[in-house]
Amino acid sequence: MSLLNRRSFLRTGLIGSLTIPASLRLASAAPGSQEADRRLAREAGRAKNVIFLVSDGMSLGTLTLAERHLRRQEGQGTHWLQLYSRPGVRRALMDTSSASSLVTDSAAASSAWGCGVKVANGAINYAADGRPYDPILRLARAAGKSTGLVSTAQITHATPAGFAAQATARSEETEIAVQYLEEEVDVLLGGGVKFFDPALRKDKRDLYADFARAGYQLARTREQLLAAPVEGSTLGSASRILGTFADGHVPYTLDHRADATLRTEVPTLAEMSRAALHRLALNPRGFVLQIEGARVDHAAHANDLGGLIFDQLAFDDAVAEVVRFVEGRDDTLVIITSDHGNANPGLNGTGGSFDSRGGSYGDTQSCFDRLVQFKQTNSWIVAGLDKDSSLAQIRDRVREANGIALLEDEADLFRRALRKDPSPREAYRVRNTPIVTLGQLIANYTSVGWTGTQHTTDYTELAAFGPGSEPIQGLVQNNDLFHVMTHALGLAVPQPAKKVA
Ligand SMILES: [Zn+2]
Repeated sequence: MSLLNRRSFLRTGLIGSLTIPASLRLASAAPGSQEADRRLAREAGRAKNVIFLVSDGMSLGTLTLAERHLRRQEGQGTHWLQLYSRPGVRRALMDTSSASSLVTDSAAASSAWGCGVKVANGAINYAADGRPYDPILRLARAAGKSTGLVSTAQITHATPAGFAAQATARSEETEIAVQYLEEEVDVLLGGGVKFFDPALRKDKRDLYADFARAGYQLARTREQLLAAPVEGSTLGSASRILGTFADGHVPYTLDHRADATLRTEVPTLAEMSRAALHRLALNPRGFVLQIEGARVDHAAHANDLGGLIFDQLAFDDAVAEVVRFVEGRDDTLVIITSDHGNANPGLNGTGGSFDSRGGSYGDTQSCFDRLVQFKQTNSWIVAGLDKDSSLAQIRDRVREANGIALLEDEADLFRRALRKDPSPREAYRVRNTPIVTLGQLIANYTSVGWTGTQHTTDYTELAAFGPGSEPIQGLVQNNDLFHVMTHALGLAVPQPAKKVA
């Protein structure tokens, strides 16, 4: 490829490392030739909108278990996997490694999608050499598009921030909230009151007042979100909105369902997604929206099966909202994926007995089907216990949450974890926290085991459809997706700023 051609390639947002689109490979012209460049230029900008869905920390095992559970209980699988029987839906594996590790964190992973460069873990759109890169929502706004972020995490968390902010450390959430205002992100829905409320912000700045002055509607409850007018005068025909529904992260789906107050006050991910789409779709120049099911990752860290599967299914409901939205349209590129695996849950075959009299946890399928009894997460269990809890209190609380009657010795092991009694579990040091100990005990009953408590290097599942999705096949790098999106939208990608001294 000549230098000139390579430059024009970069301008259209497609780099050499990207899988060549199928349409190009079929052409007689070699990739990178003038003919290929011309074809690319013709095809660029075919998508008006991009919707990017992330189930954070979703190992392939998580998707499989959610599918298995749904099929067994409802006879029909997830919306995500149903897409695979549709023509035009593309599938790939994604390499999620970052600039600093084979195992990425959410900041580096989202930045790779958000700016096209693999950065070090912990950074938001700052390359390892110190240079900041423009995030994709800034580029979209410069092209007259509307922008949105929806998450069940605090909205300033790493994954949404990777599309709209620049920070050398993901922990700078107080500053990231201000950047959202400066970047004029049109729709912000999720948790994170503490980064907007003057009583909770470190600098006491009233960011809610600042957003209101900038023309944003504010919503703090589900009812306010559902009642807020979609049409407004702030941005074209759409109205901007900042909705924050929890001090920190939005509650887990299981705990949300079990609590009437939470059900009234906190919208689901699907409801937030619908509210975002209604607004963003009013811009005739299109939009870019990221939707994150964030708590799948948190549940995986905690080895919390109920938290994991029901939040994955809530994410799948958001997938259904998006599929409904794009039905009959040919102007929207949809990407569905995860930023990295986490703890790699998997249904193991059973067969063992737990005592000399032949006591057994049950066969594999009946163990797995215990999920239907789950009413609360392991977080909820742990939150109601402490080092002084009796074995009876522990067993009652676990039974109330998920119908499982822990054996005496299991309850005792859990109690020792609550008391931080280190002996005799040194061999399991990284799993000795109360919640992970509980997760391991519950695994006896569900037959779902875990490889650990952290992110993994496993390739992640990647699905895409709509205009510009052609390059998504085989094995792709996470930062390729930035180029897929900007190319599909026809966005100009500037060179990064000079290194900051
Ligand atoms: Zn994580």
